[in-house]
Amino acid sequence: MINVTKSTLPPYNEYIEEIKSIWETHWLTNMGDKYYKLQEELKLYMDVPNISLFANGHLALEIALEALDLEGEVITTPFTFVSTTHAIVRNGLTPVFCDINSVDYTIDVNLIESLITEKTSAIMPVHVYGNICDVEEIERIANKYNLKVIYDAAHAFGTKYKGVASGNFGDISMFSFHATKVFNTIEGGGLTFKNNGYADLLKVLQNFGITSQEDANYIAGNAKMNEFQAAMGICNLRRINDEIFKRKLIVERYRNNLDGIKGIKLPIIQEDVASNYSYFPVIFNNYSLSRDEVKVLLEENDIFSRKYFYPLTSELTCYHNKINKGYTPVAQYIADRVLTLPLYADLSLSDVDRICEIIKYRK
Ligand SMILES: *Cc1c(COP(=O)(O)O)cnc(C)c1O
Repeated sequence: MINVTKSTLPPYNEYIEEIKSIWETHWLTNMGDKYYKLQEELKLYMDVPNISLFANGHLALEIALEALDLEGEVITTPFTFVSTTHAIVRNGLTPVFCDINSVDYTIDVNLIESLITEKTSAIMPVHVYGNICDVEEIERIANKYNLKVIYDAAHAFGTKYKGVASGNFGDISMFSFHATKVFNTIEGGGLTFKNNGYADLLKVLQNFGITSQEDANYIAGNAKMNEFQAAMGICNLRRINDEIFKRKLIVERYRNNLDGIKGIKLPIIQEDVASNYSYFPVIFNNYSLSRDEVKVLLEENDIFSRKYFYPLTSELTCYHNKINKGYTPVAQYIADRVLTLPLYADLSLSDVDRICEIIKYRK
């Protein structure tokens, strides 16, 4: 059986070695040695001035919006994981859906200005599949209208644009370290930011709003990364470059097998971007099989792909009659045709060949 993804684990003994000291300190959570060690190592690896670590990416995203103290409307896209839209709505904000561009599936920057109203307080674009948004144009618009920018960079760990690491754009960027992502801490997430002033606030907001032993200044929840998560991150980070390199070889193999086939559109290679090869999204349009038929065919061979992202978040049951879906025909078109193929570091190249044979020759 081949799953769409497979979580990376360090060698068993390496993790055991890393957590041994926890039995000496009995410090399990609330920012212990492991937390600070991982934080320092990630700062270096991600080449960012600041990072705060969280229990998971979603809570990090919610807290990013809370920390920026936003009101009113947030411009975002519906071609994303549910988390992006939920984070906005759960903060009492209104999502305003902007369409995506058909080239790299990130927010269509040419449409953003037409969606700005007096109520707009922020833009929350998504670096979908690790493709970097048009960060320069987004920055120009944000400066012109005095808007905050929060990137959902859940897919973008380890990527760079024009040599600048992806955690350096916007006011805050959220990275997910979920088990299925390129880099994992089992569950986990991080917020990167330039403004040093956010560090203390984020620490308070991830710990019940507690500001001193006897007081809380904010009505906040609990979103702390624990020591076992941090230890997993420390171990996984040791092999991250190798992981990404293996993914690169797999992606190149997919390209060699599927390039130039009528009705199959492969993901573009973005200029000026150092990719992390996190996903391999393929568009089936006027191919001899529909996207759904390809998915079933693969399943008959015990191979599991994913309609990622389908449906659009604006179409989810929880939002029926609750939010304005906007006008996002490109996002709808892509969501109806996209299939992400299996991709993880130890997927063998012969398995990639087999997956492509099935897609090409139905065998
Ligand atoms: C994974 C993901 C999240 C949420 O991250 P978790 O760590 O799973 O909470 C948010 N947005 C996108 C685009 C994601 O892929």
